[in-house]
Formats: sequence, structure tokens, C-alpha cells
Amino acid sequence: MKVYLETFGCQMNELDSELVRGHLHSLGYSFTGDPNDAQVILYNTCSVREQAESKAYSRIGIVGKRKAAGEELILGVLGCMAERDGIDMLRRYPQVDLLCGPGELDKLPLLIDNVRRTERISTSPRTDRAPARSVTSGDGRVALAGNKSRRSATLGAAEDSLEALDLGRAFEPREGSNDRSAYVRITRGCNKFCTYCVVPYTRGAEVHRPPDHIVEECRRLADSGVLEVTLIGQTVNHYLYVHGAAVDASGGETPQVGPGAAAFTRTGLDRLRSDGQRVTTFAELLYRIHEEVPEIKRLRFVTSYPRDFGDDILDVMAACPRICRYLHVPAQSGSNRILKLMNRGYTVEEYLEFVQRATRKLPDVCLAGDIIVGFPTETDEDFEATVQLVRSVPFKNNFIFKYSPRPGTTAIDRYPDDVPTEVKKLRNNHLLAVQSEVSTAVHRSWVGKTVEVLVEGPSKAAADAAEADAIDARSTVSAVHGSTDQQPATRVELRILGVSQGASSNGAASSPRQRGLQSDGRTAPLPAGTQLVGRTGGDLITFFDCPAGRTPESLRGTVLPILITGSASLLLQGTAVGPQGTAFGTDG
Ligand code: SF4
Repeated sequence: MKVYLETFGCQMNELDSELVRGHLHSLGYSFTGDPNDAQVILYNTCSVREQAESKAYSRIGIVGKRKAAGEELILGVLGCMAERDGIDMLRRYPQVDLLCGPGELDKLPLLIDNVRRTERISTSPRTDRAPARSVTSGDGRVALAGNKSRRSATLGAAEDSLEALDLGRAFEPREGSNDRSAYVRITRGCNKFCTYCVVPYTRGAEVHRPPDHIVEECRRLADSGVLEVTLIGQTVNHYLYVHGAAVDASGGETPQVGPGAAAFTRTGLDRLRSDGQRVTTFAELLYRIHEEVPEIKRLRFVTSYPRDFGDDILDVMAACPRICRYLHVPAQSGSNRILKLMNRGYTVEEYLEFVQRATRKLPDVCLAGDIIVGFPTETDEDFEATVQLVRSVPFKNNFIFKYSPRPGTTAIDRYPDDVPTEVKKLRNNHLLAVQSEVSTAVHRSWVGKTVEVLVEGPSKAAADAAEADAIDARSTVSAVHGSTDQQPATRVELRILGVSQGASSNGAASSPRQRGLQSDGRTAPLPAGTQLVGRTGGDLITFFDCPAGRTPESLRGTVLPILITGSASLLLQGTAVGPQGTAFGTDG
């Protein structure tokens, strides 16, 4: 059976999808990038942003139409929307055949199997004439945590069968893939309860994985060729594992519920240690991976919580050259009053104090964050405070969102959405413009420096041009084949592009198409001189020309020194140089 799996939302969802893909693949399912070619369609959904949610509903609607036209498909909704809406979603969207929450993904093959075995594939959206199917949570099509992990967090961790999914991930390089980057989860769930966020309810209580499992996963990824590992968790710096507190029947360590906030104070940690408890902090975990898996050339982590970000983490970052100087630390607002309504648990002053510590200990650190504008009751003064915060911190970028009330959150019940849409739009645009100025200055400050860039491949513009030329060539070939001289073109000329100053912060290298096509339709390497793209350790997007004597294929996945010669608001432009800044040589 062919499966089409589409992912909405965050890195956590991307990793979940990767693990689901590996799990289903090991059971004999194959995957297709075309939903029209699939018998099973899975949407891994996100309920944090309205836009992602609307997109998912629109996809569900399209599949409903296909089913109404008689196509036999299995449609599954995974992730946070499934968990939040529960079986109500099956009632409202009868074309959905199965639901699987983010904490139950290991059960997905069973759900698909149940739908197939019982032939309960739904056919169409409900009409007034069609009786509603009876839906229960126990009919084999639904795997949701409900609120059990919040009701009893310890029980939730003990029942955490998801660990097997992480541990069972595929470590063989994917066929045809040059992917050298991978995510590794260190915590699941969240205990922070920001009022605008549904994650603590959909992903459950914060559960921390045993450090040995994490280090082993990194080692196996490195063995399979991965160069860059990103540790992920909702609040990674709150990782803390107490050894001996959670073990299985054979004495092996298992995931455990994270400790309360008190553990992150110096006295809290000292108390744990003086009680004879052996603990692994986030700083110690980072250090272990850095020392025990030197094949990982880049170690990053997202997302950090501004509170309780200890100097111990900054010290380890400063001491370990392969840990990237990159911190994604969402501030969310520059107004203490709004931060309080958001239940963020820190003040603007504390946020700025953290930024000062981070930039003092790591002068080359790159900072990024998230901001919400138009939170309920936000006044012009509150917004101005946010503008001041953005102006005063050297953020390389900020993801700026207009507040929208999300079902299942505290804020939707507690605060009326009273900032008019037009005002939200104006504030959003104004803040984007301010951030653009700040980003431009940050990127400009790198001009003249040599940075290490992990090469991702040809820039999207170069790859698109290669493909366009290839398509052109294929038409030419068929035209030539149909002509009297029967002489096919022998080589496709590929354009070499200049830097696109307008490239977006995330689109440039997200899916570089890696090859051109020869006149006979076979793939051919892009030539030297093609524009390449990669990222610095601080996650700055960098464009440069493929140096003479090298091919894009030979450079993909390598780390190159690049002398920065120009910049724009969201990118750097440079030239490949030798290790000491000399002209790029063949040993580059
Ligand atoms: S820290 Fe706040 S915003 Fe982040 S996942 Fe937890 S509750 Fe949501």
C-alpha cells in the first residue's frame, strides 16, 4: 500500500513524521509524494497556528470529495488536532477513518490495519440523508492519550511506549538522500501552560528521555552519516534526568516525568544532589554528546525557554566548538503585563538579563525568537514595549505572529480577542519592518568574517533553473527526435545565477532539487560555478558559488570556510576560501 504523509507545523511534528515513515516502511508500506497515487493519506497536524490548521482542514475536505466520487482511500489525522478534537472530529468529518494523537504514534500501524480489516473505510462527508456513523473511542480507529498523561504524569511516563518509536528509528541513510541533518528528541510534552498554547494538553506532561538513549541515538545517526544533530524539546533547557528514579523490569532506565521548576534553581539542584541523587542536566547532556560522538560536526538545540537558562549551558557551549552558537529563545512580548497574561513566567528585564549573559559568554552567538502581536488587551504602549525589545536585542530573525484564539487554550476562555484584526495587521507589519532593520544590521556585521558553512546543495534558484533548462532540453530532444536529422542535443547548458537578494529565510534551501537532466532524460550533475547554499553554525543562510575544481555533489554535506563579502536582511553572500582564508584549493 502506498502512503502519502504530509506534515504541518513544527520540528517536533517533522520528527514525528520521520519516525512514522520509518515505522510504516519497516512494515512494508511504501511512500509517495503524490496524494493522488496513495491508498493511505495521513495528515500530521498542528493546532498551534490557525493557518496550519485551516490548511489541514482544506486537505481533509479535498479527500472528502475524492471519497464522495467513489475512491477508496484511508484518511488518517495524526498529531495535535486529532488529540485536541478527539472523536468529535470523526463525527464532523466522516471521511476521516482514523485518529492518532502525538503520544500514540506507535499504534498507527494497528489503526490502519483495523480500518483495513474491518473495511470501515468511510466514503463521503455526511449529508442530511446519510445517517451519522456511530463513533466511539474504543472502535479500533482511535488512539488518543485523552488527558491521562495530565491526570497521572507518572503513569503517563511509565506507559510511554513512544520511546520504542524513537529507539526504533531507521539509521540507514535513505536511498538517494544526501541528508546529513537529523532531529533527536530529548523531551516530550510541556509543563509551562502558556495561556495561548494547547501543547501541554495535546502532548501531555513533560517527559524526559534517559541520557544513554539520547547519546546512543546520536552515535547511531553519526554512524549512518549524519553530521548535524538538532536536539528538540518544547523547552530543551529544562531537561533534567534523575538517575534511578525510573527503571524497567530489567533495570534499564526509562523516560521519566520532568521535575518541577524548583529543580532548576541552584538550591534545588544542590538539594537533589545532596540527597544522593545522580542527575544529568541539559548542560551535561550537551557535553556528553559533544565528547562521546565527535563525528557530529554540529550540535544544535531548540527551543529554549527564557527562564532558567543557566550559565552552565552557556559555559559548555563556549567550551565545545562543535556546539552551534545559536539560541532560539522566544520572548513572545516586550510588555510585562502581557507576559503575565500569557503566563510566561519571566519579565522583560529577566529576558534582557539572559541576553546579556548569553552575548557576554558567546560574543558570536546568533539569537532568534518568536513574538505574538495583538494578544488580548494589548495596548499601543504594550506593543511599543515589544518594538523596543526587538530593537534592543540583536535578533537575527523573529517569527512574528498575529494572535488568534486557539481552541483548547486557557486564553480563549479567559480573555476576549479584543484587538481588532486591522490593528493586529498594522502591528504585525510594523514589527516585521523593525525586525528587518535589526536583521539587516546583524547580517551586515558578518561581512569580512570567515564562517564555517554546512553545504546543503544548489540554491533553490539554481536548482529551479537547472530543472527549467532540463525540461526545455527534454522538449528540445523530443522535437529534435521528431525532426529529419534525428540529432539529439548532447548537453544541457545550465545557467549560473547571481545571488537572489530577495530569498526568503526558509525557502532558499528547504528542498533543493539536486540535479539537472541530460538531453536523454537521465540526471546529470550540476556544474561547478552553480550557486550553492548552506548555513553557518549560527543558522545564517549563506550563498556562494561552487568553487572551481569541485562539484556541488562533492560538497553537499561538507563544512566549508566561506569569506562573507555581502549581506541582505536574511542572508549572507560569500566566497569559498581555504582553511586559513587563502583562495579555495582542491583540498578545500
Ligand atoms: S513553553 Fe508555552 S508556548 Fe512553549 S510549548 Fe510550552 S506551553 Fe506552549
